[in-house]
Parts: sequence; structure tokens; C-alpha cells
Amino acid sequence: NSGTLSGLNNSENAVPADAKNLRVKLVLLGDSGVGKSCIVLRFVRGQFDATSKVTVGASFLSQTIALQDSTTVKFEIWDTAGQERYSALAPLYYRGAGVAVIVYDITSPESFKKAQYWVKELQKHGSPDIVMALVGNKADLHEKREVPTDDGMELAEKNGMFFIETSAKTADNINQLFEEIGKRLPRPPPSS
Ligand code: GDP
Repeated sequence: NSGTLSGLNNSENAVPADAKNLRVKLVLLGDSGVGKSCIVLRFVRGQFDATSKVTVGASFLSQTIALQDSTTVKFEIWDTAGQERYSALAPLYYRGAGVAVIVYDITSPESFKKAQYWVKELQKHGSPDIVMALVGNKADLHEKREVPTDDGMELAEKNGMFFIETSAKTADNINQLFEEIGKRLPRPPPSS
């Protein structure tokens, strides 16, 4: 099951330009409508604009952040653009991914159920050392909440995932999501 193209092998999850500059492929998974594109736009452009979705869907966007330990992480963010419907393509989509972010909508129990499906999918097809995050989005809609925070926390804990609730609308916890992922990436050994 190893990739044939160099650079796409599972062993190269976090590709170091050097020990202090990491580059990683991040894939987004989750039901349509949970806010995946909005999270990416908020993170990359600092905007919440539902109408600019089209610009994200087709390919990937990248964004570099600096962490406190002076490491930088360049995220190459892949939005599914509906590919999740074609399970035959899924392994290709996950290949080489060092990070998987599974998103659900806290107002939608159905999307949370789908998140559990994606966790299993990743355990089947993802690299064993992939960093996984579970994200309960639309946290600003607390009056419509139907998925308790504890349920998300429990699912994440059981599967060794990082858990956070976000709002792409208010920007709550969006940068924190990516910073926490960055901290959890495996660091390459220092070169001699
Ligand atoms: P995707 O299909 O998962 O990429 O979902 P989108 O990013 O296209 O978002 C779907 C809808 O949810 C849009 O109408 C967004 O405006 C809305 N949305 C996304 N994130 C949030 C959020 O954090 N809070 C609220 N209230 N709405 C959101």
C-alpha cells in the first residue's frame, strides 16, 4: 500500500525543509455543510464569506504559521470538494496526509455520526502516524446545539484525536486549531 510517487509516500508525512520548517498535507473531512470551506477561508484569509466557497473547493490552499518554539509549519490544505462520496478515491486523497481534520456541526447529530464514520475510514486508509483532529464547528449557534461537547470529547479521546469546538463565523478557536495541530506534528531528528 505504499505510494509509488516520491513525496507521496506515507513515510514523508511531515516533510521537513529543515528541522525548523515543516510542511504537511492536511485533509478536511466531514459532511457537506458543516463549514469546512469556511474554516479554511477564515484561517487562510481571515474572512467569513460563504459566497467565496467555489475558490476553495477545487484544489488546495496553503498557509504557514509560526509556533512558539520558532518552528514554522506550512499547511497544504485539501478540501474534499465532494470527493468523499467516491470511496474509491479516498485512499488517494489520504495518501501522504500528515494531518486529517474531521469536522462536524454541533447543531447536527447526523454530521456527528458521519464524523464517527470518517474516524473509522482514516484508521483503515490513513497513515498510522497521522495527526487527527476532531472539530465541532458552528459553536456560535449554542442555542441550537444538539451535540454535547462531552460527546465530541469522548469520541476524540477514544481515538487519540485532538478535540476543539470552533466557529468559522466568529473566528473562535480557528487559529488555535491549527496551532495545536502544529504542536502535535512529529519533529524530524536534528541533522548533523
Ligand atoms: P462545507 O460544505 O463543509 O465546506 O461547508 P461551508 O463552509 O460551505 O459552510 C456551509 C454553511 O454553513 C454556510 O452557509 C456557512 O455560512 C455556514 N457556516 C460555516 N461555518 C459556520 C459557523 O462557524 N457558524 C455559523 N453560524 N455558520 C457557519
